[in-house]
Amino acid sequence: MIGLKGKNALVTGATSGIGQAIAIRLAQEGCNIAINYRSDREAAVDTEKIALEKACENIENCGVKSLLVQGDVSQESDIVEMVNTVVKEFGSLDILVNNAGIQIESPSHEVTTADFDWVIAVNLRGAYLCSRETIKHLLSLNRSGVIINISSVHEIIPRPMFVSYSISKGGMENLTKTLALEYASQGIRVNAIAPGATITPINQDWIDNPEKKAMVESHIPMRRAGSSEEMAGVVAFLASNEAAYITGQTLFVDGGLSLYADFRENWSA
Ligand code: NAP
Repeated sequence: MIGLKGKNALVTGATSGIGQAIAIRLAQEGCNIAINYRSDREAAVDTEKIALEKACENIENCGVKSLLVQGDVSQESDIVEMVNTVVKEFGSLDILVNNAGIQIESPSHEVTTADFDWVIAVNLRGAYLCSRETIKHLLSLNRSGVIINISSVHEIIPRPMFVSYSISKGGMENLTKTLALEYASQGIRVNAIAPGATITPINQDWIDNPEKKAMVESHIPMRRAGSSEEMAGVVAFLASNEAAYITGQTLFVDGGLSLYADFRENWSA
């Protein structure tokens, strides 16, 4: 895709699922990639290995650089250090992907304050603080850049039993729009993708159970879950110059899940 080669990208939560696929895809497109991990350095090393191998499938991208950066996005000091490290090692940061995310299931009236705060701190405040540090850096160099938030269909679809997750993704929609509007004139584009049900470890519970998987997929108009690679492809597009005139948008990558499938047939006839 146009305009990705040689760009410096940071992907949070890049040890697993969608984040790992994004880091790999951006490396394939010729980006230098900073792979953020919180707890599992070995998994980050795996991401790095696959990304560099895939990049090298195109000889021109054999020189892409990679960096492992430890950091918990619920901790402000970790985020500041992480962005500083990327800038120090790569010289600049052009693309930030706010991917790290968690969910905790509980009836809404029983959610503990600590669990509520934790989900918001990772999914929403973490995305904001990573964006804040990246924007500060870009403005200091008078440089254009791209931020992509990994939201969810639950940005707009309420999700009972996951109230903090739903709120965090709803907030992410506004974060995307607010930052996009505020920095559009300075060449900083901010967009999001909203994945539907995607095959990643976060969904292990139903992926490994054929009955549950069939049940999940029966609710999706396209009748299948998505793959991490399908999410990563859209992120690469939004990060590239092919999307140069797009900002403040959330692209739903969900096999039609957000299309109100119950309205497929006419209820009233
Ligand atoms: P996943 O496989 O569980 O991966 C989540 C990643 O986030 C892991 O690398 C994890 O690393 C990292 N992470 C969690 N807490 C972190 C923290 N405090 N600091 C830094 N990294 C942290 O999940 P996924 O399905 O790929 O989800 C990725 C994103 O897509 C999330 O934002 C999720 O909400 C969104 N999404 C997923 C789906 C889906 O169906 N899979 C659908 C819609 C949206 P550690 O293990 O080290 O914590």
